[in-house]
Amino acid sequence: MNEVTKRFGGLVANNQVSLHVNAGEILALIGPNGAGKSTLFNCISGVAPLSEGRITLNGQNIERRSPRAIARLGLSRTFQHVRLLGQMSVLENVALGAHLRGQQGVLPSALRLQRPEENRLLAEAARQIERVGLQDSMAAPAASLPLGQQRMVEIARALCADPTLLLLDEPAAGLRYLEKQALADLLKKLRAQGMGILLVEHDMDFVMGLADRVVVMEFGEKIAEGSPEEVQRDPRVLEAYLGGVE
Ligand code: ADP
Ligand code: MG
Repeated sequence: MNEVTKRFGGLVANNQVSLHVNAGEILALIGPNGAGKSTLFNCISGVAPLSEGRITLNGQNIERRSPRAIARLGLSRTFQHVRLLGQMSVLENVALGAHLRGQQGVLPSALRLQRPEENRLLAEAARQIERVGLQDSMAAPAASLPLGQQRMVEIARALCADPTLLLLDEPAAGLRYLEKQALADLLKKLRAQGMGILLVEHDMDFVMGLADRVVVMEFGEKIAEGSPEEVQRDPRVLEAYLGGVE
């Protein structure tokens, strides 16, 4: 994305922000509350139309496209809060995600699908559930899983759209130590398969152990970019986080 600006009335939530995510790379986006991280996600995924700037995905301009069109071009996202249908099985939850990629365009009444289409969706969902390592829990109600595994279900759902770029909003929030490790292992595996991953995350240990590069935002602007080691030494970053270190 190139010089993306997003204004809400007089407030500049993103000011000429440029960044790119390579295939097979994890880029972390960090910054204090109100820095503009979620707004940037919303601009990329098409939820919030940007005011100025350009965004390309796999060589195609996406800054004026609908969220649906952008998803079809290879972008998937998860949300900050788990959005699963608790009483439905893991398989059904993930199949709903796959359904959004199906040709029919209408919303998720899996029951109203044509049989071959339904079978195709369930097979794709099962494949993505195996990819995140939850094959033993396919039939379990989503709500019966621990939070760490529910996050994995959401990622499996996002993977059904066959993305080349995955946006994750605070995937480690609320997870226990071992759950974070399992999540990090999964993200490393996806990276090794060539996926680009852009994540907003507050857990610094998690970010610094995982990200290839880090972009730091403050007051809507990019104030630093580099390897985890570089940004942790950057005086502007220290100032943003610690409120001024002389
Ligand atoms: P972050 O995710 O980094 O905490 P946000 O992107 O949520 O930051 O917010 C950046 C700024 O934009 C904040 O000042 C916030 O109040 C403002 N903002 C975000 N969304 C809206 C909106 N829909 N309308 C008006 N202001 C908004
Ligand atoms: Mg936010």
